[in-house]
This record gives sequence, C-alpha cells and structure tokens, in this order.
Amino acid sequence: MAYYKRVNMHWADVVAKEVAETCEKPLIATGISPTGIIHVGSLREAITGESVRSAVEGMGKDVRLIYLIDSFDPLRKRYDFLPKEYESYTGMPISKIPCPRGKHDNYAHHFVQPFLDAVESLEVKCEIIWTHELYEKGAFAEAIDLSFKKRKEVTQILHEVSGKEAKDDYAPYNPLCEKCGRFTNPIFETYSFPTVEYQCTCGHHGKADVRKGDGKLTWRLEWPAKWMIFGTSAEPFGKDHAAAGGSYDTGKRIVEEIYGHKAPYPIPYEFVQLKGKGQMHKSTGSSVTGLDAINMTPPEVLNYLFLRVNPGKAIDYDPGKGVLDMADEYDRMEGLFFSGEYTEVEENSVRAYEIAQHNHVPKELPLQVPYKHIVNVVQMADSFEDVVEVLGRTIDLTKANDEDMKRIKTRADCARFWLNGFAPDEVKFSVYPVIPQGIELTMNEKAFFMELVNRMNDANWDAETISQIISDTGKESPIGLKAGFKVIYKVLIGKAAGPRLGPFLAGMDKHFVINRFVQASQH
Ligand SMILES: [Zn+2]
Ligand SMILES: [Zn+2]
Repeated sequence: MAYYKRVNMHWADVVAKEVAETCEKPLIATGISPTGIIHVGSLREAITGESVRSAVEGMGKDVRLIYLIDSFDPLRKRYDFLPKEYESYTGMPISKIPCPRGKHDNYAHHFVQPFLDAVESLEVKCEIIWTHELYEKGAFAEAIDLSFKKRKEVTQILHEVSGKEAKDDYAPYNPLCEKCGRFTNPIFETYSFPTVEYQCTCGHHGKADVRKGDGKLTWRLEWPAKWMIFGTSAEPFGKDHAAAGGSYDTGKRIVEEIYGHKAPYPIPYEFVQLKGKGQMHKSTGSSVTGLDAINMTPPEVLNYLFLRVNPGKAIDYDPGKGVLDMADEYDRMEGLFFSGEYTEVEENSVRAYEIAQHNHVPKELPLQVPYKHIVNVVQMADSFEDVVEVLGRTIDLTKANDEDMKRIKTRADCARFWLNGFAPDEVKFSVYPVIPQGIELTMNEKAFFMELVNRMNDANWDAETISQIISDTGKESPIGLKAGFKVIYKVLIGKAAGPRLGPFLAGMDKHFVINRFVQASQH
C-alpha cells in the first residue's frame, strides 16, 4: 500500500530488485556450520535469506531459498561441551561422528536439527541441503576436477587476492582416509578423473573417487563450487567472509575464472551481540542460543528485529526486558502499517513489518495483545484455556479469528519459556492462594482494604474502573496512593511491586479479589 509512495527503499527491496532484474531463475542461498551450539547470529542469516526470497517473490518471480548445512566439515577440536571420548573424533567429518546423546543420525543432525525445527516456526521457506550428501551424490565432481586441472591458477588467485604465499603443494581437495576417517593430502601426480591417490599420516595408502563422499574441497573452493552447483543469485554471510582478501573475494574470482560461473550478489551482515544482564539461562546456566531466541521471542517479532536495520549494522539482542520492548515496537509498526499514518522516519520500520510477513500480510489489523500483558497473564493461568479465560476478562476475544488465537498461543508459549529462562525477577510473580505468610498490616492499611471492598462490590469489573477506585481510595486514605499500591501487591503476590493493577486485577476473578481484600481488612 503506502510502500509505493516510499522515499527510501528498504534494503531487502534493493537486493530483491537487483536479483529479480539480473537473474532468470533466482536462487538465494544461506548456510550454517553445525559444529556446535547455534548462535543467535545464525538466525540473522536465515531470516535475511528468507526476507530477500519473499521480497523477490513479491516482485512476481519464481524464487528458491536453500539452506546449506556444512555437515561434511571436520570437527576442529573437542569443545568443552563434548564428552572426553570425542577427542578421538577430531579431524573427522561431523556427518560421520555419532550424536553425543545417541539419539540423532550423527553429530551434525544433533546440533542443527532442533534449530531447523524451530526455524520452521519463523516461516522460513527453505530447502534443507546437507553438504555431505552432495559429495556422496557426486555434485562436486566437476568442481573438484576443475580444481585439480587448474590447480596452478587456483593457487595464483589465492595468492593474488588473499596475499598469502603461493604454495606449490596447496591442496584444493582433501581425500578422506578410509582407514582412520580423517582428511588427508592427495598425491597430485596420481590424479586422473575420477580418482586420486593419497598417503595418510596414519600410514594408509589409498585411492579416493571425487564422485563419491571420499573427500572434500577446502573452504575457499567449496563455497564457489556451491555457487556453481546451484547457480546462486544472492547470499547473506557473516562479515568476516567479506573482508578484503577474504573468502568472498577469492570465491568470486574462482567461480568466474576456474568454474566459469557468476558470483552471487553479496549480503554481508554484521554480528548479533547479546546485551543486558539476563544472558544466562536460569536453570541451565548457558548463554542465549539461536534456539532460545526463537523460543522466547514471538516469531513475527524476531523476523522484524532482523529486518528493521540494514544487514551492515550490528544488532543487540537483549534477552531481558528488551524482548518485551521489541514486541511493543512490532505492534506499534503493525498499527502504523494499517493506519497508513506514519512519518518518513518510520517508513523503513513499517516496510520491515510488511516484509516480515513473508507475503502473508493480514487483511486487517490483527487483534493486538501486548506481549507484556501475556507475560503477566501466563503467570496467573496454568493451561492455555485458563490464559484465554483470564484474557477474556479484559479483552473482547469474541472477534478474535483463528490467526489471532494462534498468535496469542505462540506468545503465551514464548512468555513461559522466557519466564523460566531469561526473564528478570522483577517481572515474575505468582498469585498466592491465601495472604502470604509473615505479612502484617497496620490499622490504616486494613481500613484501606475495607474501603476498597465497599467501593468495588457494586462496581464494574474492568481495568479502568478498578484503577479509578484504587487511585481515589489511595489518595483519600492516610496511607497514600503509593503505599496503597504496595500493600495490594503484598497481599496478592507477596512482593512490593508487580504488573499494572487495573488490568492485573481485572484479569482475576472479582470474587477472588474481593475475598482477599476482605481477609486483608481483618488480618
Ligand atoms: Zn543428538
Ligand atoms: Zn589415515
């Protein structure tokens, strides 16, 4: 809608325009190295890729997004989180190393599968491709053959671009020793398509077939080989690869001069930094992973978070109260998108909201239930049915459609995960079934409760009325409004502060609240 009046183009539209105009069959590639715990930054890659895909699709083009998993990479070292016996697996491809828990097909699956499952909830529409399977199918055979035949040119390019010494024994391809299972060096003179011999440091002499999973290209050649195999049009990647003389620069020349193909439109992105204090999971003690971020940030909000700024800008992900603020900002942009009343400063964020819908923009403004509010409600309700009941006391849910209810359900699940893991203590509470032990009330406080009961008995049970009564009663009482708030929280949740009282009490059963206040007045 308002998008066509835009003054400045959103970055995803800029990339999409370039891709749509220059590529017959656009293909966007993203990837991940599943050698260990998956970082929040990997989400940026997946979401950036999907955003470009959906923006190209929005221009009427048939476009694919692939997600390449580097499952044939070797395990570089035994990480701290791995059992001792994994020492013996270092140097082996992770597709051939067992799952540390004995549950998944292999090590690569173990680390990436939970993440892939979760990414689905972000509606990233990608085809998952395992690199070790590509090798096994012979997809790299042509690239490996060219790398051997033009080895001198490859070495020269790497020397010119990266500035590293041109070594005569540079191996573009490493056979996998059939005896010890580790990557080793080939004997160049023995290369004759499709085989090459090798002498492994373990003592074994063998022969590798480049059409099979018998070996792998080094990273600097494997990346451009993938561009050739898939005809990649655009690809987001971490800014470390984009440095001058880095693997994008060498890959670009290799794909053009050795493999005879085009390099993709580069989308280098900055890292995601974790911010704030609540970085450690309360029970596991580990810091925020990509999976955690998916589990505690509503998916629409997470998509928006990575779209609102240019990929070249660093993003701070605050797993504490920042998650709530981000959700509020998302809701606000959604409101602006539907009202059409936004300023030039806001238009980029509004477009980010629109792209975050991946071409499934709702027809009208969805029912907005603030994430902050849901965080409070799930602490008052055990099941989702109870959540709906509590919400129904303050929000008209009769007009909610299936999509609205789905969004509330997802936000409720995210809120519970966040509360159990990363939420600061100040947002947590539980409503006690009786007045918490050890609370003593003064005569004035008891009178304050009696007066609340008198005024609330016949009043409407809605947030506004309740706030008004508390405010009036508090101001008229000798204890004052501030102490009034405090003592209400005390008799309900045993803390001196809590959620905003109007909606909080309105979300509870009226009889329950009045009963509690009667008890307090007699305490
Ligand atoms: Zn596993
Ligand atoms: Zn060996």
